[in-house]
Amino acid sequence: MNNQKTISSASENTIKILVHYSEVGLKGKNRGFFENKLKQNIKLALRDITHVNIRNEYGRFILNIEATDKLPQIVERLKKIIGIAHFNVAYPGSTDVENLKDQVLERIKEFQFDSFKIQTRRSDKQYPLTSVEVNRIVGARIVEALNKKVDLKNPGMTCTIEIFNKQIYFSFEKIPGLRGLPVGTSGKVVSLLSSGIDSPVAAYRMMTRGCRVIFVHFHSFPFTEKSSYYNTQILAKKLTAYQYKSVVYFVPLARIQEAIILSVHPKFRIIMYRRMMYRIAELVARKENAKALVTGESVGQVASQTLENIIAISEVVSLPVLRPLIGSDKEEIIEQAQNLGTFQTSIEPYDDCCSYLLPKSPETKAKLEQVHAAEARIDNWEELVQNALRESEIEIFRFPEQG
Ligand code: ATP
Ligand code: MG
Repeated sequence: MNNQKTISSASENTIKILVHYSEVGLKGKNRGFFENKLKQNIKLALRDITHVNIRNEYGRFILNIEATDKLPQIVERLKKIIGIAHFNVAYPGSTDVENLKDQVLERIKEFQFDSFKIQTRRSDKQYPLTSVEVNRIVGARIVEALNKKVDLKNPGMTCTIEIFNKQIYFSFEKIPGLRGLPVGTSGKVVSLLSSGIDSPVAAYRMMTRGCRVIFVHFHSFPFTEKSSYYNTQILAKKLTAYQYKSVVYFVPLARIQEAIILSVHPKFRIIMYRRMMYRIAELVARKENAKALVTGESVGQVASQTLENIIAISEVVSLPVLRPLIGSDKEEIIEQAQNLGTFQTSIEPYDDCCSYLLPKSPETKAKLEQVHAAEARIDNWEELVQNALRESEIEIFRFPEQG
């Protein structure tokens, strides 16, 4: 009895989380850089919940959590950190296997299961028992005390015991992370964020490649309502949960659209709107020192996304335009938007600046000469582009909001 009490109070004070990271581990010389970024991101993500001490041991992090009563919130946050492959709540165990088997028993009792498996990983070869011996001794204790079956192929419950650096940790549940590269390891990109379904998913995909994303949203206020603006604020806020700080440019496109409508054939309007949007986004990228633009385009999805129109739109910028969804179909994108939690906001009605005064049949195969001729008729567009950037409103979002 006495013994059990010490075990449980000891574990309550010392709950730890073992974090295994994904591609981070593969980065050779840069490994330290990737690990530090991931550590920083973990601290940022938890900063309003708890202070966390992170130790780096044998290719994994050991998080020392002070606020053990906040464990459920902490687990939820860790699930959303890009760069974590998987993690588990781990209990420090005794290096004496006689104590260890009782410690595991005390914890495993809290779960409902029929069959189980003990899986020991011994990186510390100095430890006197082999992993198979540890599996047998701990497993036998559980069979004897709880009358449960061992099932190595399809266990209802797996207890992982990790032995490294003269320490032992055991854990029960492997919680999957988001994988990918920690945000901040691959430089900045500028993402054109409409309030539709695709562009938030495209931005998120770039975050999982380590990019920090700056957002640019174009609106037609006062010609249309500000609904796309408000929806974009909500989306940017949601996406900030993955990168902790976002800068968002809200760019007024109305004056430019007015000039286009006055002098360009209706069938070219959408292409012109887009060319101007790309140019402004590129100016933002230069200002923010970002290395590429990102859009949610996917070949053939809508009239403006034919290969011909993509050519006619992209030729105006010299930075690369990344289109992570280019080969994805709508179903796949919707599924990802749902997982990301952006879908509901994206299907809210909004006034899309690009549907403003569009003809029923826009050009789907724009010829460059015609596009150039049309653009030459727009009065002073260079100045309008500069003005739009100058009149942009910049908003900063942070996650967590407090802390
Ligand atoms: P989305 O769902 O992202 O709006 P979509 O299928 O509706 O995409 P389009 O409206 O043709 O396609 O937009 C293509 C891409 O152009 C968008 O994914 C986005 O990157 C960019 N874009 C379109 N409208 C805007 C806007 N108002 N502000 C910023 N970017 C925009
Ligand atoms: Mg759209």
